[in-house]
Amino acid sequence: MHQEQPPLETEPVAAGPRPVRCRLCGRPLTGAASRRSGLGPACDAKLHPAGPDIRTRRHEVEQDALPGF
Ligand SMILES: [Zn+2]
Repeated sequence: MHQEQPPLETEPVAAGPRPVRCRLCGRPLTGAASRRSGLGPACDAKLHPAGPDIRTRRHEVEQDALPGF
């Protein structure tokens, strides 16, 4: 008896959108905002610290005047 077997075609690409990983720590991102920025919420907070800390550091940074202004 000859038994036919269907050819096994293993596709490495799984169905669905590709997982976006954080470009800083490499963790898979699940949030829409994280996927857009390419950073996890924790790493995004590291690179873009928000809060009164920015205002206090503003005194340390000298802003260059625009040339011709
Ligand atoms: Zn990260």
